[in-house]
Amino acid sequence: AKAEGRGTWRFFEAEMDARMQQRRRLELDLRQALAAGQFSLHYQPLVEVASGRITGFEALLRWQHPERGLIPPGEFIPLAEETGLILPLGEWVLREACREAASWPGGVSVAVNVSAVQFGTPRLVDAVAEALAAAGLPATRLEIEVTESIMLQDNITTMAILHRLRGLGVRISMDDFGTGYSSLGYLRSFPFDKIKIDQSFVRDIGKRGDARAIVRAISGLGGSLGMRTTAEGVETREQFERLRADGCTEAQGYLFGRPVPGEAAREMLRTAASA
Ligand code: C2E
Ligand code: CA
Ligand code: CA
Ligand code: CA
Repeated sequence: AKAEGRGTWRFFEAEMDARMQQRRRLELDLRQALAAGQFSLHYQPLVEVASGRITGFEALLRWQHPERGLIPPGEFIPLAEETGLILPLGEWVLREACREAASWPGGVSVAVNVSAVQFGTPRLVDAVAEALAAAGLPATRLEIEVTESIMLQDNITTMAILHRLRGLGVRISMDDFGTGYSSLGYLRSFPFDKIKIDQSFVRDIGKRGDARAIVRAISGLGGSLGMRTTAEGVETREQFERLRADGCTEAQGYLFGRPVPGEAAREMLRTAASA
């Protein structure tokens, strides 16, 4: 049994080594990916519940790896955050999203995900201002999506950055609401423009009373605080009807469209305009 135990241990060691090597490999690839032009953005429509109109698109990062194909952001963003690569990458995302949005009709906005790591430095405010200026995009057409994790960091810096971004005219959305270290206190300490209700609640809205109660409560809370509420991950007509009844102001999900390349997003806007 002892020998077997040692063998098992060696097996684990080999497995760990292989995983570490894979990680190191991915990190090297990630360092080169930006210069090699392997990143792109896809755009997913956000729809106003009352009118069914497209009010904006969320920009979602895609990495086309030369050997491994398309790698989803969930697999490389944590690594980019650990290595600090998220800083140049995040700036690229801002510039690219603003440039694309400048070609959309006036009322349509773009939402960009910004990592908590980017909130660790005041450089973020300049990066946003530069991206807007370079694209000629009015600040009011840019939404910055942040997660609850930014509230865990040095509160003074985070608050100062949020206020300076707001000062530029940019709107701020609280993403994945209800999944993090939720504290209603931060809704008082900073007036977000929008709350995005996490898709885990939306998914269960037709199946579970508790999910529906939570969606209803968040919509009501947002409404009375003067914040818009967006339901994420809306896949069925039935979910959409319930969200409408529960007072959600905006919806996003496969029901209205998957994330698509910039060209296809522009086409969606053209089709909507002529309909
Ligand atoms: P997120 O910000 O919550 O984005 C929504 C995710 O839900 C996207 O996954 C989107 O493709 C997916 N989704 C949209 N509608 C539906 C639906 O109806 N059903 C289902 N099952 N899924 C839906 P994606 O593109 O894989 O992105 C995953 C996460 O990666 C994002 O979650 C965001 O946290 C992060 N991310 C993506 N792009 C960026 C970026 O440019 N910067 C940073 N920092 N994070 C990013
Ligand atoms: Ca988001
Ligand atoms: Ca989200
Ligand atoms: Ca999410």
